[in-house]
Parts: sequence; C-alpha cells; structure tokens
Amino acid sequence: MKTKGHKYIFVLGGVMSGVGKGVTASSIGKILQARGYQINPIKIDPYLNVDAGTMNPIEHGEVFVLDSGLECDQDMGNYERFLEVAVPSESYMTSGMVYKHIIDKERALGYGGRCVDPVPYICEEISRRLNQSIKKTGADISIIEIGGTIGEYQNAMFIEAARVLKLRHPTDVLFVLVSYLPVPGKIGEMKTKPTQAAVQTMNSYGIHPDIIIARADRPLDQKRKEKIAFSSNISPFDIISAPDIESIYQIPLNFEKDDLSTRLLDRLGLKPRQTDLKDWRKMADRIEKAKVEVRIAVVGKYFKTGDFVLADVYLSVIESLKHAAGRLNKKIKIDWLDSNDYEEDPKKLKELKKYHGILVPGGFGERGIEGKIKVIRFARENQIPYFGLCYGMQLAVVEYSRHVLGLPKAHTTEIDPETPDPVIVIMDAQRQLVADKNYGGTMRLGAYPCRLVKGTVAETAYRAGVSPKTEISERHRHRYEVNPAYVERLTKAGLIFSGVSPDGVLMEIAELPKSAHPFFLGTQFHPEFKSSPLNPHPLFLAFLTAAVKIKSRTSA
Ligand code: GLN
Repeated sequence: MKTKGHKYIFVLGGVMSGVGKGVTASSIGKILQARGYQINPIKIDPYLNVDAGTMNPIEHGEVFVLDSGLECDQDMGNYERFLEVAVPSESYMTSGMVYKHIIDKERALGYGGRCVDPVPYICEEISRRLNQSIKKTGADISIIEIGGTIGEYQNAMFIEAARVLKLRHPTDVLFVLVSYLPVPGKIGEMKTKPTQAAVQTMNSYGIHPDIIIARADRPLDQKRKEKIAFSSNISPFDIISAPDIESIYQIPLNFEKDDLSTRLLDRLGLKPRQTDLKDWRKMADRIEKAKVEVRIAVVGKYFKTGDFVLADVYLSVIESLKHAAGRLNKKIKIDWLDSNDYEEDPKKLKELKKYHGILVPGGFGERGIEGKIKVIRFARENQIPYFGLCYGMQLAVVEYSRHVLGLPKAHTTEIDPETPDPVIVIMDAQRQLVADKNYGGTMRLGAYPCRLVKGTVAETAYRAGVSPKTEISERHRHRYEVNPAYVERLTKAGLIFSGVSPDGVLMEIAELPKSAHPFFLGTQFHPEFKSSPLNPHPLFLAFLTAAVKIKSRTSA
C-alpha cells in the first residue's frame, strides 16, 4: 500500500484555523531538508471544489499556480518558497478531486458492480494519490498538511486514511498537531484546555500527536508545557513553543532551537546526514534586521472583508517584495490602496507621490478598473517606479494606448466588448470556453516559455540573476492578451515588448526604456509565483532597486 522506505509526517490543526499550519509544515520541511533529506510537501484541502481556481480569493486567499497549471491553495506557495522546489500537481488534493475520480470511475463500471462505500474506497483513493505524489518526486519524506481543524466533519476521511497508514506502518508515520493557546485579555493567563481538548479529539479518531506545535502570541512557559504533556501523554520536549514573530522565515530557526529536526528524525528511525541552515539564517537575519524602509503602494480591489483588510489575497506578491527588499537590505512597507478610491476622488492621486514604487497586481472584472488606470497614468507621468502583474500589465497597455497613442476609448474586451480599440483581447482558444461557461481550470495556466529582447530592462534584470538566460519560463493565469494588431503602433509610440512568446505572437512583457522612466514594466505572467527568499525574482529586484533609488533621491 505504501512506497517502500518512505516516511510520512501529517500536520493537523487544532483549536482554530489560520494559525499557520502551512508555514509550520514548510518550516518542518526546511529543517529536514537541511539535514540532507529530500522533502515532498503535500497539501490536502477538504473542500469540494476540484481546484482553487474558481474560488473568490476573498473566500480562500490567493490562488497559487504550479508549473503544471494547477490552481491550488496558497500554502503550496509557502512550500515552494521555503523548499526551493517546483511542487508537482500530484502533491495537491481536494475532496472534490477525490470524489470526482471515484464517481467517474463508478459510472464507468470501474468498481465491477461493487457497492462503492466511502470506507474503504475514499481512503484507498487518498492513499493512491499520496503514492502517486511520492513516486513523482522520489522524495524521502512527505509532509502532508491536512486542511481545516481537527474535529470537523469535512476532513475526517483524510484523517482516517492517515490512521490506516499509521496502523500499517507504525514507525514510518508521525503526527504533528499545530494548536493555539489563547491568552484571554481579562484573565491574562495562557490557557491550555483547548489544546488538551484537541488532543482528545485526535484520540477519538484513533491517532495521537507525536509533536505539538504550540502557537500563541508569546512563548510557552515550562509550566504550561508540563501541563499539556501530563494531560496528553507526551514528553514536554515534544511540545514546541511557536510564538508570533515578525518574519515567517525565522520559524525554521526557532524550531531548531528546540531540536525539532533531531526529534523528528529519531522517531522516524532516520540519521541526520548533515545540517545546513547557514544561507537560510543569513537571509532570515537580513530580512529581520533591515531598517531603512521602502514604501510600496499595492493598488487592488480584493482587500476588504467587512471591517478587515485581507492582504492574504496577494500573499505571493507580498513575499516576493520581502525577498527582494531583504536582498537589498531594506525593509518593505506596503500600503494597501483600494483602486475604487481613485475613481471617486481623483485628487487623491497626489498622495501617491509619497511612495517609492507602485504595484498593480493581477485581477479580474470591472470594479475599480478606471481607478487603476488613473494610478498607472500617474506613476508613468510622475516617474514613480511602476510594476504591473498580469492585469496590471494589460491595464498599463490600455493606459498607454489611451493617453500616448491617442485612442481615448481603448480598452480590454474583458470590460468593454464593444470598444473601437480592443488593445487587450480574449484569446481564440478561450472564447468558446467562456461561451460554454467552462470556467474551471481553463485559463492560460502554468509555465510557458518567453524570449527576452536583448538590452531591455527585463533582459538586463534576468541577466543579473543567478542563472542568466534569454529564454525564461514563467507561470500564467489569464484569458486575455495584448492584441497583436496594435503591437506595431504601440511600439512606434515608445512602448517596448521586451518579452515575447517563442512564436512571436504573445506579448509577455511591456516596458518603457530606462531613458524615459526609472522603471515602468508589466508582465503578462505572474513572477510572484517564482520568487523565494534565497532566490528573489529578478524583476522584483529590479523594481525595488529602482524604488530604492527614488527613495535616496527624495531622501524621504
Ligand atoms: N483578467 C485578466 C485576464 O483574464 C487578468 C488576469 C490576471 O490578472 N490574473 O486576462
């Protein structure tokens, strides 16, 4: 049933969601990787959506895209960033994927007339998927994060599959519980009872935690460690304190203060081969210690949910900015600006002068779009470094067409299908899919090659990177493209298409030359999906380098 010699670490959440299970799983991966083991991170999402692509980001945070084009949970981004690996599609599963496979197979008589009960067929399908992922990566250890919180109805079958795996291979399977310890304001004392209850709930599924990661707003003291240890039958040394910290990249280092990798490897009967967190430590310290602030405005629309701002929607953008800032020994200060505000009150635009750079990330639909176009124009005309990602690039082309090319009605057909100047258009392959309401997993998705034009801002940026190339591969997620019919006119008017698909048809990067603007560049792809703290993305580095220059010029 299991791949020979392989080890499994299941990461489950207790008490409540949103306490950093994904970052914990990534950090555990990092410390084991540093000990010489190849790690296979796997995420299981209990929802019935077949992938994350059709979900509103306000509901579920960022949709992350893999090389294969699979649209998945933002935690996959954390895994890739921490572990410097390109995670394959096989390492992501949802209840939707599992059920769909079983139901399709049943309809095709794949079960030979048997009654297809959830037990054992769902568990078997889950194990089949785990095995597929392990085979694909050839890794030594899988770290499997089960989404949701223990005790929920939704993730029960996945926990059952984990239980069966443990039953069959007791020494190869570990359970890590990521719990939360509240310190209620009025009481002023850290409470362990919810964690004790989470352990009891785990026990009711027939499993027991080997390690408890104790998340809290402050470190766990010895007394509380002992209390949980006593009630949960585990050693106080297996309870790891995980207080809130400034930078997530410190977490693996904090875990190692408690010798977590040794404890995990001992349990799994594995010998540490090496330990090498040197570069990681240098990077994490640089990010933490940087003091000089670069102010970046991110102008989007998915921020507000009730009274809260949800920056999670742009998680990879935030992290990419942090990676590049860290490399430049700068601290990043991001302000989240709602593009709607600039539609209602164009006078507000002047306030943008206080930023050293402006970024318009990816997006869909009409709301706030004229505001974004106004912001882009302001950045272009006022020499403020501008970086547009996907929609942010398309709208820069619309802006340039309107105000430089002199086509005041230029637009993307996503918003105005009747525009006389459709500078951004839907691709033929996409048109029918939209007409058929076939939205799931059907955009231009995943990694595509792109050729860089020598001597441009983009090419110079990539050339300065670790492995300079003129043909790059970047990840996409969109339906619309620059209309080839306008490329010549836009080029004549000064816009440079510095990255083009190998067949020359699709414009992947648009920019203004250095002589015209400190940095004005947009990408049809999403560079934020390929940045990591040890390898900041070259375009984010170039954008922030320009922002730092502006800052020193204005010395503000
Ligand atoms: N809405 C645009 C498109 O579909 C841009 C998508 C994006 O920014 N990811 O092409």
